[in-house]
Amino acid sequence: MTLHQNLIAGEWVGGDGVANINPSNTNDVVGEYARATADDAKAGIAAAKAAFPAWSRSGILERHAILKKTADEIMARKDELGRLLSREEGKTLAEGIGETVRAGQIFEFFAGECLRLAGEVIPSVRPNIGVEITREPVGVVGIITPWNFPIAIPAWKIAPALAYGNTVVFKPAELVPGCSWAIVDILHRAGLPKGVLNLVMGKGSVVGQAMLDSPDVQAITFTGSVGTGKRVAMASVEHNRKFQLEMGGKNPFVVLDDADLSVAVEAAVNSAFFSTGQRCTASSRIIVTEGIHDKFVAAMGERMQGLVVDDALKPGTQIGPVVDQSQLNQDTDYIAIGKQEGAKLAFGGELITRDTPGFYLQPALFTEAHNQMRIAREEVFGPVAAVIRVKDYEEALAVANDTPFGLSSGIATTSLKHATHFKRNAEAGMVMVNLPTAGVDFHVPFGGRKGSSYGPREQGKYAAEFYTTVKTAYTLA
Ligand code: ADP
Repeated sequence: MTLHQNLIAGEWVGGDGVANINPSNTNDVVGEYARATADDAKAGIAAAKAAFPAWSRSGILERHAILKKTADEIMARKDELGRLLSREEGKTLAEGIGETVRAGQIFEFFAGECLRLAGEVIPSVRPNIGVEITREPVGVVGIITPWNFPIAIPAWKIAPALAYGNTVVFKPAELVPGCSWAIVDILHRAGLPKGVLNLVMGKGSVVGQAMLDSPDVQAITFTGSVGTGKRVAMASVEHNRKFQLEMGGKNPFVVLDDADLSVAVEAAVNSAFFSTGQRCTASSRIIVTEGIHDKFVAAMGERMQGLVVDDALKPGTQIGPVVDQSQLNQDTDYIAIGKQEGAKLAFGGELITRDTPGFYLQPALFTEAHNQMRIAREEVFGPVAAVIRVKDYEEALAVANDTPFGLSSGIATTSLKHATHFKRNAEAGMVMVNLPTAGVDFHVPFGGRKGSSYGPREQGKYAAEFYTTVKTAYTLA
């Protein structure tokens, strides 16, 4: 089997491969991927530092052309890359291809952003003096990504970093190196100069930590767990560097008495269980007012019975496997905790077997839960959701906001008054009315509040805030 190596200073390097395993079929090895050492990370950082002066002054047409070429190749290979994604991560083929298309759109968008760079020219308060406000690249950007969006998250960090003239050291999650390797390969062949983008696949505690400890990394963008996010923050404060964190969620989905029942059920099932619930925007707290509660729970049960949980690559599969054994253990531990806490496991929650050995879990729905239970406060990161019964809209909003997190928040209602009030008062970075809590377009800001996020938003033109630094320059006329 060919070994997929790390890219450092424009050369593919490294031996000592680890197997990338398909969670739908643990007998299937997706590929062998080199494991970088701390010294490799340091070499990648040194290469990015050396490449920065030239790349930061490169022409916008050169950057545009490389990002556009990358977008075109991702789009042309969407079926193959989407399949690789589903094979290594376990989301369904439709979800894998959809995510790949999104990565292509992100590169296309930021190819365009290269051509739209602009500043401001304004008069000083002093006569005959002009002021220019421009954006400059930050320097070497460290990119650390999680396993749940193996192509979209690397794309939405790498594309703006390069578009705005930064150089990059990129460490993907250990579980899903395949898509990351593929997009780095595409960018490399598209003509990126040596050292502008360095790929260091390997362990967070080794490779990631070496990035955190380096004084030569001027900015780190991280998506992952709250615990690692705190380490990134502390190390970044130590080195006086810019940092951006996207971490967990415990997103609420409110269903009001006046909701359209089928809209509410579709949005709730999608929010809670699609992508196997492994999305930071997944909703795991379904807050339902008492007039519709019983009808809604019955309709959810019916809808959940029809969900097809199987091999991610099989046609017709709606929910793929959990990503690995350790995540599966976490999911089943939380199901046990929910029962011990007194919530009622109304549907699902059993381990299931399929034709191939994989990490299959029937999506689980608890009822009779309350918001202080651990299953309502801590992120499970699996297909496990809890219904919390409330009296009215006011109580629903209070419960929705009573969480340490604040990423996404949803509501199902036909009332303009409640929808408008919820959009204004939900303590979340993203709010959805009659739509699932997940599913934010590639060209709009993504991010949250409270314990979910730190720093500027990602995606769209808002990404410039993190990947550039503002300069204010004066000239005497
Ligand atoms: P998850 O539970 O989603 O895997 P993690 O926070 O553990 O979340 O992982 C997200 C990313 O952070 C991964 O690429 C992982 O390798 C990396 N990581 C883990 N530990 C560290 C660390 N000490 N320093 C830097 N990166 C780390």
